[in-house]
Amino acid sequence: MDKEQISQISRIPRQNFLKLLGLACINLIPGINTLNNELFLEVPIKIPPSLMLHSKDLSQLPNLIPLIVNSGYEATTYEQYYKKLLNGEKPTTPLLISIDDIGITYMNPAFKRIIEIMDKARMVGTLGIVTRGERNEAKTDIWKYLAEKQKNGWELAIHTEDHTSLPFLTDRELRFQIKETYEEIANATGKSPNSLILPYGNVNSKLGGTDRRIFDVCKELGIWWVVGIPGGKQISGSPPYFAGRVGPGRTEQITMEYLANSFD
Ligand SMILES: [Zn+2]
Repeated sequence: MDKEQISQISRIPRQNFLKLLGLACINLIPGINTLNNELFLEVPIKIPPSLMLHSKDLSQLPNLIPLIVNSGYEATTYEQYYKKLLNGEKPTTPLLISIDDIGITYMNPAFKRIIEIMDKARMVGTLGIVTRGERNEAKTDIWKYLAEKQKNGWELAIHTEDHTSLPFLTDRELRFQIKETYEEIANATGKSPNSLILPYGNVNSKLGGTDRRIFDVCKELGIWWVVGIPGGKQISGSPPYFAGRVGPGRTEQITMEYLANSFD
C-alpha cells in the first residue's frame, strides 16, 4: 500500500472503512461464501469444541469454568458462530456450550445456577428449550428470564415439544415437535430460533443413515444448526449443519481433555 492509497483510506469514514474491511475478510478466508445472505462452505471446516451440559453437571461447573477461561477459549453460541462465518470472520478459539432440557412450566434451579456461573465468567451458551404442555401452561416468569438471557447474548434453541426421539416419529409428528417449539420461542421472545438440539442426539433413521426429514423441516424454517452428539465434526455446503458435542468427563480435567481432543 503506497502513501496515496493510505491517504485515500484515511478519508473514508470509519464505519465505511470497517465495512470494507469486513468485505475484504470474506475474500481472505478461502471457501467461505455467502449466497443470498446464507452461508455456503466450499471447503469443509471443523466444528469448534462443543460441550453438552445438563442440570446434573452443575457440580463440575465451579471448577470447570475457570479452566475453560484460563485455556483461552471464547464461549460463543451456535447462532453467533454462524453469523461470524457469514460476516467472513473465523474465530480462532471458539467454544460452544449448550445446556439441555430447560422447561417452561418448571425450571430446575440448577439451570439458573449454571447460567449464573457462566454469566459471572462473561460466557454465553445455547439453551435447549423443551416446551412440553399446553401453551397457556408456560410460566411467564420463565419466559421473561429466558428472553432476558437471549438479550444478553444467550441463544434459545429448540429442544422440541416433548423431548421425543425424532427419527421414530411420523412425518406429521416430527414436524410438530420442531415447529411447535420454534413458534413458542418466537412468540415469547419476538425472535425465531436458529438451532435445533436433537433429543438424545438422535439423528439416524430406523433404517440407518441420517434422517433427512429433520433437515428438511429445519431448512424450511430457516434453522442453521442441528445439534446432536456423535459425529458432526465438520460442516460444508449450506445450512442446516449437523454439529456433534461431547458431554463432560468424570472430572473437570477429563472434560478439558475431551474438548481439546474430540474435535480434531
Ligand atoms: Zn435433552
